[in-house]
Amino acid sequence: MISSLLTRMVERLDVAPHTPLYSFLDRHGKQTAAADCAEVVRLAAGAADLLRAAGVEPGDRVLLVFPPDDGLEFVAGFFGCMLLGAIAVPVASPDPRHLDRELPKLRHVVEDSGARFALTHPKYRALARLASVANRLRGRDAPSWPKLSWLLSHRIKRADLPAAAALLTAAASRFGPDDIVYLQYTSGSTSAPKGVMVRHRNLVHNLELIARNTRVDGDSVLVGWVPLFHDMGLAGGILNAMYTGARCVVFSPLTFLTAPRLWLEAIDRYRGTHIAGPNFGYEYVLRGLRDGDAFDLSSLRATLQGGEPMLPATMERFAAETARMGFDPASFVNVYGMAEAVLFISGPVGRKPTLLRGDRVVLDRDGVIVPAAPGAPEVTLVGSGVPDAELGVSVLAVDPETRQPQPPHVVGELWVSSDSVSSGYWGRGDEENAAVFAARLADGDERRFLRTGDLGVIGADGEVFICGRRKDLIIVGGRNIHPQDLEAAVVAADPILRPGSAVAFGVRVGGVERVVVAAEVRKKALEGGESLPLGRAVAAIRAAVAAHSGVQCHEVVLTRPGRLPKTTSGKLRRGECRELWVSGSLRSAALAGPDGPKAED
Ligand code: ATP
Ligand code: MG
Repeated sequence: MISSLLTRMVERLDVAPHTPLYSFLDRHGKQTAAADCAEVVRLAAGAADLLRAAGVEPGDRVLLVFPPDDGLEFVAGFFGCMLLGAIAVPVASPDPRHLDRELPKLRHVVEDSGARFALTHPKYRALARLASVANRLRGRDAPSWPKLSWLLSHRIKRADLPAAAALLTAAASRFGPDDIVYLQYTSGSTSAPKGVMVRHRNLVHNLELIARNTRVDGDSVLVGWVPLFHDMGLAGGILNAMYTGARCVVFSPLTFLTAPRLWLEAIDRYRGTHIAGPNFGYEYVLRGLRDGDAFDLSSLRATLQGGEPMLPATMERFAAETARMGFDPASFVNVYGMAEAVLFISGPVGRKPTLLRGDRVVLDRDGVIVPAAPGAPEVTLVGSGVPDAELGVSVLAVDPETRQPQPPHVVGELWVSSDSVSSGYWGRGDEENAAVFAARLADGDERRFLRTGDLGVIGADGEVFICGRRKDLIIVGGRNIHPQDLEAAVVAADPILRPGSAVAFGVRVGGVERVVVAAEVRKKALEGGESLPLGRAVAAIRAAVAAHSGVQCHEVVLTRPGRLPKTTSGKLRRGECRELWVSGSLRSAALAGPDGPKAED
């Protein structure tokens, strides 16, 4: 394996300097910026010059704060940091309309990473100023905003190719496997985002793993909209292309949310071979399709889903709607991944995801998959493939108490051993990091494991099946209820409910654990006016929860769209939702039906 991504950049500049590498599209699908390897290296060298002149030194953290549609400047900044040996810190694009909400999120990353520099687009000039004067805005008693030097990316001057190449070669010999390339902040589904330290050794291992398992090479075309500050957009798109020589065609996530068909249009136009996104992305496409749409999707070899559970129903509908466009359902892959392991853990291309069916009641009660008795409720788990043992990846389901691997089909915490696994989160103590990133089995196995916090089972042939997160588990009367399972049933219960926007969580009421469900109502349904059948939806949700888990719902809260807390990648934040319920603010956001409030029992 090569020692760093810098080494690979040197090779690529040598053998394929002018092969198209990145294309950025606007909301009409028109290319607004593009770069081959030579151009990237020249821009990166220019960014490195700008940073160095501002006083950035190797090891310094540099925030990259870019609007969602400025991919090339982000790329210049990211590789510029790499050339300097500075640690890039990609952050979510702040929405300028909601700075009250956005500044605290940015502040968290600034404080957590200890960054003193930020590279940003001139569009965010106002944001930079605001952040600098945030002390005054936040009142006298508020802690002061950390001191940050803001550098504007339009000052980046493309370096001459020979000078840029020389800088790259020097960097490739200076920085190696142990150097930190960037901090990948986690999505923040369960707590405030944590900065995973990604070193060259982790990155190169993961990019090799992705290339082999999802079969990406120099002839591949990756088409995506997932944000570049997230692991899926960054490692899965931008860095993947630099590593393999694949072409990477990108458009903004905001564009995707308003015009999801653009994904299919771009696949057609650029002959896309690989796409990746969370399940809700495929739902968006389905909703955006129009009669008579005729895109050619026959070039697709891998249709990856990751970051949230793959729902068989979504995939079936997607396959049915796109069959006439030449889409091959065998290209679906359910990828298991997370920032702590750079991105990819398992999910090889080449066979349709395996469905593992079991008795729901037995799974919830005993944590084991057995065939369902006739007529008994069934649970379906979607496989994420067998981990790549040749590259040293293994995934076990471990009993957290005894630290012993569970037998096949018995639920445990998923533990991952892989060279992609980071040494820890930035700024945490060695002990705290070792507990998460370097756990040991009871039997003296030499390997060190990442404790993922996810629950799952391993199939008889070693395939990984995810059940959910330990932190989100709702334990009612000795039964373990996985909320995402319930949530899928909830949104299917009534057509006025918004897909992907229902949350189930446990609350203690009178000393017992109870289930609360909060669900958003579709905008279209709200526009329907007075006849909104909120009572019907509440009843349908209660019935679905009872049928699915055998427990009675304590409360159902229906809200307007966009009210439930989600991460910047669109994942539900169940813990925060629970806090909102406890504080009463979720209930106060509830919709009132024609015959009174519908939130209460
Ligand atoms: P945080 O760690 O900040 O709470 P997060 O865990 O959502 O946020 P990510 O690293 O973006 O941060 O996501 C990884 C998590 O996403 C995994 O631990 C797992 O819970 C979930 N996940 C990833 N892939 C899948 C998948 N294919 N099916 C189900 N869940 C998945
Ligand atoms: Mg996580």
